[in-house]
Amino acid sequence: MREICLVFFNANTFSIRIDTGNCEREKYNVPKGQRYELCVAVHAEQNAVIAADPVKMKGATIYIVGYNADGTLASGKPCLLCRRMLKNAMIAKVVYLEIDGSIIEVAPSEIQ
Ligand SMILES: [Zn+2]
Repeated sequence: MREICLVFFNANTFSIRIDTGNCEREKYNVPKGQRYELCVAVHAEQNAVIAADPVKMKGATIYIVGYNADGTLASGKPCLLCRRMLKNAMIAKVVYLEIDGSIIEVAPSEIQ
């Protein structure tokens, strides 16, 4: 049986599940994919791993869609830190939407 365990968004604290709409990395013109330690938000994938039942995460699939602050589609590809957390949580498959509309299905360890 399949079930949806959790739905999460980027958030600046665990209890506030909305994004601030501001990106510190954009403010300092940091290229995409770099310096995630500057983020004030906890990424949705991280919030999901923190909150989910570890037993249910083993072998599970996570689905990710990304949006920019202006509402345009962003790549759902997990950042390096999130990839590590997904691997450590024993998530089996990551399904994410790319900005060209393609759906990528891959194991966390295979994400480039
Ligand atoms: Zn991330």
